[in-house]
Amino acid sequence: MKLKFCGAAQNVTGSRHLLLYDNKKILLDCGLVQGGFGRLENHQMNNNFLFDPKTIDAVVLSHAHIDHAGNLPTLIRQGFKGKIYCTEPTVELLAVMLEDAAKIQAQDAEYLRKRFQEEISPLYDKADVAKTLKRLVGYKYGEPFEVEPGCQAVFYDAGHVLGSAQVFLTVNEGNVTRRIAYTGDLGRKNMPILNDPYQIPSADVLITESTYAEHLHDSFEYVFEEMEWVVRDVVARGGKIIVPGFSLERTQELIYVLHKLYLDKKIPAVPIFVDSPMSTKISEVFMRHVDYYDDQSFKDFLGRAKSPFAFKNLKYITSVNDSKKLNEYKGSCIIISASGMCTAGRIVHHLKHNIEDPRNLILIVGYMAKGTLGRRIVEQKRKVKIMGSFYNLKADVLAMNEFSAHADKLELMDNIKKIKKLKQIFIVHGEELATAYMRDNIINTLKFKGEVYAPKLGESFDL
Ligand SMILES: [Zn+2]
Repeated sequence: MKLKFCGAAQNVTGSRHLLLYDNKKILLDCGLVQGGFGRLENHQMNNNFLFDPKTIDAVVLSHAHIDHAGNLPTLIRQGFKGKIYCTEPTVELLAVMLEDAAKIQAQDAEYLRKRFQEEISPLYDKADVAKTLKRLVGYKYGEPFEVEPGCQAVFYDAGHVLGSAQVFLTVNEGNVTRRIAYTGDLGRKNMPILNDPYQIPSADVLITESTYAEHLHDSFEYVFEEMEWVVRDVVARGGKIIVPGFSLERTQELIYVLHKLYLDKKIPAVPIFVDSPMSTKISEVFMRHVDYYDDQSFKDFLGRAKSPFAFKNLKYITSVNDSKKLNEYKGSCIIISASGMCTAGRIVHHLKHNIEDPRNLILIVGYMAKGTLGRRIVEQKRKVKIMGSFYNLKADVLAMNEFSAHADKLELMDNIKKIKKLKQIFIVHGEELATAYMRDNIINTLKFKGEVYAPKLGESFDL
C-alpha cells in the first residue's frame, strides 16, 4: 500500500493525493494549482498529472474549494471513467463553483495565448463540467460507503466550509489493514453556521493540512462587537461599507453576522447588497442545507427569521444593470461583492466609485495575495491603480482576520494530539517553511515517535 503526493506538496494549492493498493488507485482531491508559480506554469501543472487519469478508479473529495476540486473536469477530459464521492452539499456547490471555473479557464487560455503566442487551449469547458457533475455521488457525514472493493470510506465534518469533510478510509490489502485520515482543509471551532471540526479518535496514518501551521488566529467571538461598532461608525458619518467577499462561506458568514446584529437591533437598518451572481447561488445552496448548520445558528435565528441568509434589508443582485445602479445609490449601505482579492469582477467597479470618499470603509475579510489590488488596499497605498487609472485611497481600510476558515497552529497540533495510534503523519497543503515548522513541532513539542514527513511533489511512501 502506497501514498503518492501529486499536488499541494510543500505548497497550498492543487491538492491531489494518490492512494495505491492491490491494483487500485484512489485519488484524494483533484484541485487546481493557482497563483504562486506563474500562469503558464500553473496551466502546465494542471494539464499534466503525475499519473495517468485513465488508470484512476475513483476520486474521494474533501470539499468544494477550487484548489481541491477545480481540476476534476481536466481529469475527466483526459479519460478518468470512475465516480467522484463527496458530501451532499459539495455536490450542489460544485455545480456553481465549476461553472464559474470553466469561464475563468477560457479567460486564462486567452491571456496565455496573447502573452506567450502559444497554442494553448482552456483546460476544460462547460461540457466537461457537465460530465463531471454527472459523476458526483453525495453522502452524509458519518454514512459509510465502499469506494472500491477493499476500501471503505466515511466523511466527517471538517468545519471549514459548508459540506467540507475529513475523509476516513479503511483500506485492506492482503492481511494488512490501514486506517487513513485525511483532514482536507480543517476548520476552526466557534465559527458561525458550521459545526466545530469532528475529532477523529484513532487512525494509523494522517494526511494533515498545514496552511497556518505557523500562525495564531484571533477568536471569532469579538467579531459581532467589532462589526457593530464599524457599521454604526460608518453609517453615522454617511459612508458606505465595501466588502470584497469570497463567495463560498465568507460571504454567508458576513450575512450571518450582519443579520444577527440587525435582529438584536445593534445596527441601523441600512440596505445590504450582495452583488455577485455566484454568491447568490451559493447562498441558495446554504438555504437548502439547514441540516448542516450548528446548534448556535438555530439559537441565533430560531423563531426570528426564516433563514440566516434572507431578511428585509438584504438584497441579492444578479443582473449587471442592477449592479451598475448601485453606483448612483445615495446614502449609507453595505456592498458585498466578488472577487475576494479584487482581481476582477464587480468589486473593482465598486472600489473605483467609492475609494476616494473618506466617509467610506473598505472592509477586508480574507487573505490578499501579493500583486492583487486587494493587497495594495490592505497595505494602504496612497494611490492605487484600478482599471488602468490611479485613484487616491482616501476611504478607511479595516482588516478583520477573524474570518479565517483554517485551523491555526494550536488547533492543528491539538487535532494530531487527540488522534490515537498514529504511526505515520504526512504534512501537506502548506508552504515549505510551514510544513517544516509543523514537522519540528510534531517531533519536539508533541514528542511523536512515529514517522513524520513533509512530502515533496511526486514522492511516494509505503504505508
Ligand atoms: Zn478549502
